[in-house]
Amino acid sequence: MLNRFKHLFGNKKNKEFGINNITPIEEKQIVPKEQVDLIRFFRNELPDNKNRYHKDILQFNHEQIEYYHDFIQWILPTIDKSQFHPEAPTIDDHFKEQLQQDDLAKSNYCRTCQLYLNYVGFHCNKRQIQCQITGRLYELPYHNQLRITRMLNSLNQVGNNQCSTKLYHAIMSEIKPDSDKIDNNTLDYWAKTQRININCNILIGAIAGDIIGSIYEFNPIKSIDFPLFKKYSRFTDDTVMTVANANWLLTNNILSDIMLDYGNRYPNAGYGGSFYNWLQQDIPEPYNSFGNGSAMRVSPVGWAFETLEETLKKAKESAEVTHNHPEGIKGAQATAACIYLARTGKSKLEIKEYIESTFGYNLNRTCDKIRIAYQFDVTCQGSVPESIIAFLESKDFEHAIRLAISLGGDADTMGAITGSIAEAYYKEVPEEIKKEVLKRLPKEFIDVMERFYKKFIMKNKSID
Ligand SMILES: [Mg+2]
Repeated sequence: MLNRFKHLFGNKKNKEFGINNITPIEEKQIVPKEQVDLIRFFRNELPDNKNRYHKDILQFNHEQIEYYHDFIQWILPTIDKSQFHPEAPTIDDHFKEQLQQDDLAKSNYCRTCQLYLNYVGFHCNKRQIQCQITGRLYELPYHNQLRITRMLNSLNQVGNNQCSTKLYHAIMSEIKPDSDKIDNNTLDYWAKTQRININCNILIGAIAGDIIGSIYEFNPIKSIDFPLFKKYSRFTDDTVMTVANANWLLTNNILSDIMLDYGNRYPNAGYGGSFYNWLQQDIPEPYNSFGNGSAMRVSPVGWAFETLEETLKKAKESAEVTHNHPEGIKGAQATAACIYLARTGKSKLEIKEYIESTFGYNLNRTCDKIRIAYQFDVTCQGSVPESIIAFLESKDFEHAIRLAISLGGDADTMGAITGSIAEAYYKEVPEEIKKEVLKRLPKEFIDVMERFYKKFIMKNKSID
């Protein structure tokens, strides 16, 4: 995470001052003291605020684990301040990086996880986590369930996502469907820790672009330097219809029925006038559109098929329920093809050449040149090539979104198109963007994204 920002901050600043390398002293100065103390706590060099060293806590017996309420925040730190123990330190990306680099601190972190898991009836080693005493977790006082939530969050936040997933599945496999010992809120919390973990990695690129662009659609900007998320950043029609398309591929039901259903359940998502009218029809007919709505919603198609031919065929089907104009179909096919080629390992040059030769888009322009005169344009032919160029020119996912929005056009839709391709090419969306996105989505969208991930990405692989 630090490395991602170095090109934006560290190097620039150093060049200005004629310094070639960031000195260790400078790094140390920006690490908050409590983070340093926490690493030293895990190294047994400093005690916690009750004067207990890490090795003392490791000696706790079951009675002490149950009796004390002020140690768990130290051994399982999270990014959020504890309501019950506000003096306990919190963590950030500095801590995550330091812990991953410090073998002693990391090993002690894991040892306290083992200590607590043994207490609640689980056994763990490097490869697996298994329940050994069935039902013990929900026979213990309720706060132990909250401690498990803390552990799942802490594991994710320090970068041990695989452990978090293993623990989650070990717990879930022990819960009987009719059990009333663990309430639905707790189950929801636990599931949520996994949603920010691995199961929502797909389709979030398009949705992130939509949400980040949502506040710039009618307030265009001509710079890549802007806040990614603000209070009013929200999902719009691009997200609703992307999720509808994912649902279509999952269920094989009739696409127009699904789009009508989603559109009418989320009527204030900012649809264009013609599409809004289409949503009001009992038997909706395509209206020969060449708007970029066909490209903004097509990203699930780019992920779901084994061949480029199938991808193009399905992208056409996705478009032509509304956008049956040749340019509308072309915009959807070009976007889906970019995603397919990017996820199957093609280079940017190969993607560029394929799109130019197949669809005739002019991709020999730069964002700097386009930006000068570019204006709000909702046609496929006037925004899809520009969105692809933003991807081709980018250095990473975030940069791609910034470039697309910086052109000053249909920001949310261009963000969605560029984001969907960038996600496939760069393979991941940064964790902090993912978190901001997921907290703005309804649960039913996240459920579809998870099901889509399991069906088309995990396929037959077990996630246990
Ligand atoms: Mg929109």
